Amino acid sequence: MNKFIVDTSDTYFLDDIYKDIDTLCEKYSSILSKMVIGKSVEGRDIVAIKISGKKDEILRCTQDDRKVLFVGGIHAREDFSVMLCMKMIDYYCHYYSDRKNFDGFDVRNIIDLVNMYFVPVANPDGLNIVHNGIEASSNYEALKVMQIWGEDHTYWKANANGVDLNKNFNDGNWEIRTCVPGTEVPCSDRFKGFAPSSEPETKALINFCKENNFSLMVTYHCSGNCTFWADSGTHHMFNGLDEKIMDELNKKYIYRKTKVSMDPKVYGCGFENWFRVKMKRPAFCIELSPFVEGGKQHPDSMFDELVWEHAKTTGLFFAVKAIELSNEIYGDVEKYAALTE
Ligand SMILES: [Zn+2]
Repeated sequence: MNKFIVDTSDTYFLDDIYKDIDTLCEKYSSILSKMVIGKSVEGRDIVAIKISGKKDEILRCTQDDRKVLFVGGIHAREDFSVMLCMKMIDYYCHYYSDRKNFDGFDVRNIIDLVNMYFVPVANPDGLNIVHNGIEASSNYEALKVMQIWGEDHTYWKANANGVDLNKNFNDGNWEIRTCVPGTEVPCSDRFKGFAPSSEPETKALINFCKENNFSLMVTYHCSGNCTFWADSGTHHMFNGLDEKIMDELNKKYIYRKTKVSMDPKVYGCGFENWFRVKMKRPAFCIELSPFVEGGKQHPDSMFDELVWEHAKTTGLFFAVKAIELSNEIYGDVEKYAALTE
């Protein structure tokens, strides 16, 4: 069997992603499991994957299981975010099993201390549209009259109802959230929906978060090698911890720290904004890959060079932060030092 399962040399199609999830769960059955957290508009499974160490030993944690959540593919066209989640799962399981450090991170010890959850494809119907055209959607009759903002279907960001999921979360700002002219109706990107949290994909993520007490959440997007890490509605809640984490990320990685988002009419209703308000924990949006005007995506074949080389340990970085944060929240004095070199 190959050392690694996930192949990111070129476009990563949905069928292969679902197949690889099953293969990975089989190969790493002692630490990896999958669960279906909801169904998309077209009835596809929205899958969450959990990496959990110490399965057959008593957890060392004294409080609730520590958990951290990573989400990719909320925006249909952002292939790199999906590829990154899948490849991190593959690599982290490999290094856990081999008891080897990965780029300075003690993978085994980290995963024994925190459960890592991934939703690699939050918007599977959208990904299918980007790869195979709107004709490939079972909602084609509705989609064919919708405006595509961009040259063709590869610019699609929304789900199969033409709703931009990252403007559909009910963080209390839905009423005031503004739409760019032309995006007040279902279309390929930026329509916030006819009602807050109206979409099945939105609901699946909301329910999943409510069922789990994640210490923090990271959502991957694809534009500009920067991070959106705080908004004016919630920044005060975290006592500087969100900024501390971002400053550390900034030192170690290429992702530029942006200013606190100030206007809820503009930032409102994203998944990360909802998470901060409702779950009362920090949430970070990481924009992978260099900015391209007009939302055009880089070729999938450039993933390793543009994304993986820079982002491959970000999952472990945030897992360590989740451990630190949960210790801070719960006042746990357990030793977790020396997780990184
Ligand atoms: Zn995005």
